[in-house]
Amino acid sequence: MTVTVKIDKLAKDMVSIVGKEHAISDLASRIVFAQDPQNFDLEEHNIPYVVVRPSKTEEVSQILKYANEKKINVHTHGSGSSFAGLARPKVNCILLDTRRMNKMEVFPERGFFEVGPGAHLAEVEKELAKYNAMLPINLGSQLIASIGGAVSVNTSGHMVDAAIGKPGDFVLGLEVVLPTGEILQTGSESPRRPAGVELTRLFIGSEGLLDIKTKIRMRLVPLAAFQNIVVYYDHVDGILDTVMEMYKRCIPAPVFYEFLDEKSAKIGFQAVGLPEPAGPVSMIRIANVSKAGSEELSKEFLEFLKVGKPTEIKLVTDNEEWTKLWAARAEFANYLFRGGLTWWSEISTRADKLKEAFHEVEALAKGLKSYENPEFYAYGHIGAPTIHARVFWPTKDISIEDRRAIGLEWITKTEEINIKYDGCGGEVGLTAIRVNSFIRKKYGEKYYEILVKLKNLFDPEGILNKGNLEGWT
Ligand SMILES: Cc1cc2nc3c(=O)[nH]c(=O)nc-3n(C[C@H](O)[C@H](O)[C@H](O)COP(=O)(O)OP(=O)(O)OC[C@H]3O[C@@H](n4cnc5c(N)ncnc54)[C@H](O)[C@@H]3O)c2cc1C
Repeated sequence: MTVTVKIDKLAKDMVSIVGKEHAISDLASRIVFAQDPQNFDLEEHNIPYVVVRPSKTEEVSQILKYANEKKINVHTHGSGSSFAGLARPKVNCILLDTRRMNKMEVFPERGFFEVGPGAHLAEVEKELAKYNAMLPINLGSQLIASIGGAVSVNTSGHMVDAAIGKPGDFVLGLEVVLPTGEILQTGSESPRRPAGVELTRLFIGSEGLLDIKTKIRMRLVPLAAFQNIVVYYDHVDGILDTVMEMYKRCIPAPVFYEFLDEKSAKIGFQAVGLPEPAGPVSMIRIANVSKAGSEELSKEFLEFLKVGKPTEIKLVTDNEEWTKLWAARAEFANYLFRGGLTWWSEISTRADKLKEAFHEVEALAKGLKSYENPEFYAYGHIGAPTIHARVFWPTKDISIEDRRAIGLEWITKTEEINIKYDGCGGEVGLTAIRVNSFIRKKYGEKYYEILVKLKNLFDPEGILNKGNLEGWT
């Protein structure tokens, strides 16, 4: 159904709910919220009618009730940093920015903390450190990503699942507003999560299709002691063999296990002023609740790492050196972005197929049809295992049509590799650009139909995050 919206009237109604300063309707601001890290240019239908910034659960509820009554779409915005196309509104809408809902309370005596969805991960992490606790989420976007976004995508980023799990494993309960405006509490305040049928898990990782989270309760996780390791190789196969062997031998996984292939390492190291390495590099963090435990584990892991025939293995005890090495990994992609056009994909395969999948994606890049002769770069959370695979051209002068064609080919074909090697969308979520290329092909139409029915059950008017479950090509 097409609804005619008068922006002035809508903005006025939103002001009556959230106050004058928090209902933004000027075009320049609306355009800012229409964008995401995708390579597509902005289109008119991405621009929200109004941006609202509620501070309370009741305000979120009122906005959703209003939107249902008027049949106006709503898009939830955490920090808008998602890669999988989730963060961009697909239709003109009320854009609900959660940033003002960022209050945090730590209850050490009860073993949990509660936080509003708009708090940034780095802010939560800093607050938790005061209580000798850590946040079991570590993303490349730690400084900007919201905790509501991270729990809604259920992504742990650098943290290796086999070592620590996903954010959702630590969520004890949620306060959510349903798309129809009702407020629901889930879970409990006990450090023990409910067994059996429980709705919390349905909302975790639901990518904003079923709810707007207004409060997140998470277990306190003791701050760990760390040992950091850097490993140099002359060929990427050394890294891939080591990760596969780690799973095969059931060796305790490090909490971080990152890598940069040869070309990525050169850019990353140069960017932070470190001497260029001769080949690929991996950066590893071993964690344990006690210092002695982390030392013992790292000793064993240092010995194990010889399996991949590295050229050098080094325990990094100097914090400044580690900070630079980590920055080389974290900053590499930002430098690549600046130098031209790049398309990204995420390959998270079966552990024993990692090497095969890596070389297949490398060959795919070389034979790309939509735009020829890309450079290929690979890096990421290899211990998870996740390969971030990028095609790159050292120019920004590529038309929007060509960009779309590249995106479509690269995403579709890399998803086929994920499917072939029994992989998943282990990191940045599945809806939006992955619906047609991944969900339907991997799981089939019945699976997709169930998702659609679930969405209709929670959101009968289909107003929340429209376009994400329909997908786009
Ligand atoms: C430089 C950079 C580095 C990155 N590094 C990583 C990385 O290492 N690992 C990784 O996995 N990702 C990474 N990302 C992607 C992204 O930061 C994460 O997916 C992050 O979790 C998204 O958080 P956000 O607050 O930006 O959410 P958004 O992008 O705003 O939202 C994500 C989805 O969740 C929904 N949502 C947001 N808040 C709520 C809420 N309160 N209730 C219900 N639904 C909600 C949105 O509608 C959307 O569908 C990176 C991004 C950038 C730009």
